[in-house]
Amino acid sequence: MTDLINEHIARTARRQFAGAMTFSGDETPILEKGGDGRERLLYLHVPFCESLCPYCSFNRVVFDEAVCRRYFHALRKEMALYGEMGHDFKAIYVGGGTPTIMADELARTLDRARKLFSIAEISVETNPNHLTPEIMSILKQAAVNRLSVGIQSFDDGLLKAMGRYGKYGSGEDTADRLSRAMGHFDTLNADMIFNFPGQTEESLRKDIEILMEREIDQITWYPLMVSDSTRREVSRTLGQVEFRREKQFYDLIVDRLLPKYAFSSAWCFSRRKSMIDEYIVDYTEYAGLGSGSIGYLKGRCYANTFDIEGYIGSLEEGKLPLMASRTFVASDMVRYDFLMRFFGGSLDVEPIIESYGWRGALHLGGCLIPFILAGGIRYRGRRFFLNRRGRYYWVVLMREFFTAVNNFRDYCRNDGNGERHER
Ligand code: SF4
Repeated sequence: MTDLINEHIARTARRQFAGAMTFSGDETPILEKGGDGRERLLYLHVPFCESLCPYCSFNRVVFDEAVCRRYFHALRKEMALYGEMGHDFKAIYVGGGTPTIMADELARTLDRARKLFSIAEISVETNPNHLTPEIMSILKQAAVNRLSVGIQSFDDGLLKAMGRYGKYGSGEDTADRLSRAMGHFDTLNADMIFNFPGQTEESLRKDIEILMEREIDQITWYPLMVSDSTRREVSRTLGQVEFRREKQFYDLIVDRLLPKYAFSSAWCFSRRKSMIDEYIVDYTEYAGLGSGSIGYLKGRCYANTFDIEGYIGSLEEGKLPLMASRTFVASDMVRYDFLMRFFGGSLDVEPIIESYGWRGALHLGGCLIPFILAGGIRYRGRRFFLNRRGRYYWVVLMREFFTAVNNFRDYCRNDGNGERHER
């Protein structure tokens, strides 16, 4: 029965999210103006990596210092254009790629962002080999509050299969570096993956123990989320991606981490409440800056060009590097709101009904029904709450949402010239 419900939720979500991520060439790409006082998140993308991992569907390219410096310069210009359009942001999330690949350029960019916008929180992703005293000191001076380290697993066999052992060292090396980084930031987060081909329950159990022994502030444990083309590549090189094992692994993680850790979202577990967790829950809209970034502002989803030289060139001419945008219809907006508002585990129906009226209520009902039928939700005081089962279904929905985003990235990369596309 659980498999059937999973399958139904995944299949429906796959179809709906794929539709939402379809950009028509008919719409001239538009960036909405700011100035409405609403608090939003600023996402900055840094696509450079020392080398590329085979399972990765993110927008990333091999590092080149000269290009990277020009890229950061362009990123600062793009932020200035957002400022001129009246946008303001309360928080920054820098993702990649490897954002810390040129820590001096990153720090300069964050300083500029703090001058342009009302930034209160900064979160940055990094890799284990960048947990050095020099880089951490630069990040602290740049007021980074939360550092999120891409670990995936401590299992040497899996790290070799992922192509990370040679780059970032053994699981033991990574665990030591993580221990030394503790206490330097408000929140140190470990990014982990479950349901990787070849991963066993025993290996996952050991990963959990390593993190718990070290009392890491926060752990985000993602299911393997790959685009359709990357899934084929992963199956060919590393083994079949088996979604049937996913719930079993998820249950194991939750059983071991609670009650020492609390849910910050269905896949994020914190030892203590941090402000950062709250902003992730609160900001349902965000601007996406950097090559290949996707943003969502005032009901419009938009994407920047994936072509790095095209991105830099546009900004050198003082133009936004927009590639495509799409105005969400009411059902897309409600579905998106449903997903994001449930990030923290509960959903207040009133703002959705206020924003979208009775049609919104109908669409919201459509989103809620599978969760209600599966016994994954309870209702109290005008709020819906995800229970343990419902949290896993939310993970399935998010996995499908990010798969749709990854498929969209693949589609754009295949074109490679940064022009608008028909799908
Ligand atoms: S997993 Fe991280 S380090 Fe590896 S290619 Fe993707 S973004 Fe780069």
